Amino acid sequence: MIWARAYLLRRDGTYTCGNMIKFSLRCANGHSFESWFQSGPAFDTLCQRDLVTCPDCGTTQVEKALMAPSIKPRQKVPPADIQQKLAALRAEIEANTDYVGDRFAHEARAMYLGEIPDRPIHGEAEPEEAKALIDDGIPVLPLPFLPSRKTN
Ligand SMILES: [Zn+2]
Repeated sequence: MIWARAYLLRRDGTYTCGNMIKFSLRCANGHSFESWFQSGPAFDTLCQRDLVTCPDCGTTQVEKALMAPSIKPRQKVPPADIQQKLAALRAEIEANTDYVGDRFAHEARAMYLGEIPDRPIHGEAEPEEAKALIDDGIPVLPLPFLPSRKTN
């Protein structure tokens, strides 16, 4: 079973390339906050794996707050278009960040703590590792694809 996911850390702690979506979220205890996600499905995946936590109380009982206009026809995006966008995002990430493989969690934490020079990286992390990073406030994001392994 493949559990490895790709995560991206940007130098400035934010992530702006690709099509990010900002969701207004609300936790079970009534706190409101906002967070950026790769896509609606990416949010759902993170939520299901308890990787979205309320910054106020830490609960993982988080849902999207209703926003006006709340009812909007679901836009049908041709699969080819999605593939193209993913390919472009992937190319941009691979060109601009270093692939660190399963050392991602270690490297991301070391950068956050200032132990090694900051640089954009992407790599793989177990869900528990990713959760630990997020719990510690280290900015990481899931990528909608598995990193290609460089064979050369
Ligand atoms: Zn809360």
